[in-house]
Amino acid sequence: MATIKRIAVFCGSHTGVKHEYIGAAVNLGKLMAQNNIELVYGGSSVGLMHQLAKSIKKNGGKITGVIPQFLCDKGLAETIVDEMIIVETMQERKAKMAELADAFIALPGGFGTLEEVFEVITASQLGLHAKPIGLANISGFYGLMLKHIDRMIEEGFVNLVHKETIFSDEKIENLFNKIFSYKAPVHEKYIESVRDGGSFNIDNESK
Ligand code: AMP
Repeated sequence: MATIKRIAVFCGSHTGVKHEYIGAAVNLGKLMAQNNIELVYGGSSVGLMHQLAKSIKKNGGKITGVIPQFLCDKGLAETIVDEMIIVETMQERKAKMAELADAFIALPGGFGTLEEVFEVITASQLGLHAKPIGLANISGFYGLMLKHIDRMIEEGFVNLVHKETIFSDEKIENLFNKIFSYKAPVHEKYIESVRDGGSFNIDNESK
C-alpha cells in the first residue's frame, strides 16, 4: 500500500447553506494536521477552501496551494499557506495538484469541485494512477451523484469495477480512515476493454 503524505482536497469556493459543510472542512483539516498529512488544494481564500486551510493552520499542519495567476490577480490567493505554487491555467493547476497528492478527497462543492474529482476518477479508470479517491457525502450531498453513477453502470457506460475506484462516507473520520485502507481494484485495462468492445458494453453481447 502506498504511503499517504499529502491529500489533495477539492471543495467549494462557497461554504454552502448547511453548517455541516463547514464542520466537515474544519474536521478534515484537524484530522489531517493531527496525522501529519499535508494539504494540497486550490489555494483560495474563499468558501470551504478557506475553512479547511484555517483549520489545518490552527492545528499545526502544512499547506501547499496551487493557484492560477489570474485568481491571484483578483485577490483570491490564501495568505496562510506554507507554499503557494502559481500556475498559468486551471488545467495546469489540476495537473499539479494531482501530481503532488497521494490521495484525493472531495468535500461538497460546485462545478469546479466536480470537474476536479471527475478528472481524477477518469485518470484512475484509464490506469494513469491508482490513488484513493474519497467523496465526503456530508448530509448526503453526493447521494444523487452516486445514484447517477449507478445509472451510468446500468445503462452500460461505466464498468462496475470503476465505481470501486471511489468510495464515500457521510462521516469525515470514516472517510479519512478509508483512505489508508484503500486497495485499488484489480480490473481489466480500460483502454483494451473499450477497444475490444467492452465487457459491459451491450453491443458486445449482441456480437
Ligand atoms: P466550485 O466547486 O465551483 O466552488 O470550485 C471549487 C474548486 O474549483 C476548487 O477546488 C478550486 O480548485 C477551483 N475553483 C473554482 N473557483 C475558484 C475560485 N474562485 N478561487 C479558487 N479556486 C476556485
